[in-house]
Amino acid sequence: MQVLDVLAATRIGVFCKLGNFHVDPTEPVDRAIITHAHSDHARAGHNYVLATQETIDLMRLRYGDDFAASAQSVAYGESLRLNETAVTLHPAGHVLGSAQVLIEVNGLRTVASGDYKNIRDPTCAAFEPLACELFITEATFGLPIFRHGVPELEIEKLLRSVELFPERAHLIGAYRLGKAQRLIALLREAGYDRPIYLHGAMEKVTRYYQARGIELGVVQPVGALHKTELAGSITLCPPESLHEIWSRRFPDPVTSIASGWMRVRARARQHRVQLPLVLSDHADWEGLTHTIHTTGASEVWVTHGREDALVHWSVQQGLRAHPLDIMGYGDEDDANPAIAGD
Ligand SMILES: [Zn+2]
Ligand SMILES: [Zn+2]
Repeated sequence: MQVLDVLAATRIGVFCKLGNFHVDPTEPVDRAIITHAHSDHARAGHNYVLATQETIDLMRLRYGDDFAASAQSVAYGESLRLNETAVTLHPAGHVLGSAQVLIEVNGLRTVASGDYKNIRDPTCAAFEPLACELFITEATFGLPIFRHGVPELEIEKLLRSVELFPERAHLIGAYRLGKAQRLIALLREAGYDRPIYLHGAMEKVTRYYQARGIELGVVQPVGALHKTELAGSITLCPPESLHEIWSRRFPDPVTSIASGWMRVRARARQHRVQLPLVLSDHADWEGLTHTIHTTGASEVWVTHGREDALVHWSVQQGLRAHPLDIMGYGDEDDANPAIAGD
């Protein structure tokens, strides 16, 4: 059994021939396995969706009850037969409910990672390394210059700024699914116990995280709070709202974005960010290359970002490696902090 007997790379995503399903297809298909609920991976309109319960719930929150003709949830590690294949989902450590897809046929193991990070995140299950022959990896931060650093130090930086400017508001642009909730959880771990305010666009998903038992403390919509009440406060909003009329309610806001791209100074400048916070839900270069090693894969398919450098690195390691040409991926969150809408 060869990899290409099992899987094909198509323009709309990876297709499993022997299982008759796509992984994260960018167009409506008959059967789709969805790795996580970010909108570039989780599109509406499939006939059948298989995903974790959280991903299905989050798709329903985003698209409504008719997001797919039918949907089936599966727990991490629970094996399911799809035609000639055995499929299991395993934690990807990216956002709540995010999963890697392990496809097994006659002893051949292939893994589609979806988006992932291999560092701790208090808001989702930890990334689980899986041994496989073929590893399909994302490469959002697929360049050696990308090193995300230590999240706790970024939180410290934020809290120091809040202490330093008690008369100003801190306004932090963060993607509404995953990043916002992780930022809140990290602030709580650092001992910040005051209410944290939310832009209305973030409320539904944040309440869902809380309903799934993620501890976020007191979180409330910024609603009609008065300027004077917002002095010294922290508010999270979609990055594009930082400079909208909406932001005028805040007293002399310190503007911030939490993103892996904040490592790039030009990006922070471009978004007029005063306090860049380097916080990513994707593996950095070190994380990507370490993970590829850990899987023991002899073949790597690279998608979703800077494919070339990671393909080149893989070939240097003696692996077979190809970039995939899939149209339509690009994390709304980290790939472009200017876009956070759905
Ligand atoms: Zn994602
Ligand atoms: Zn993505």
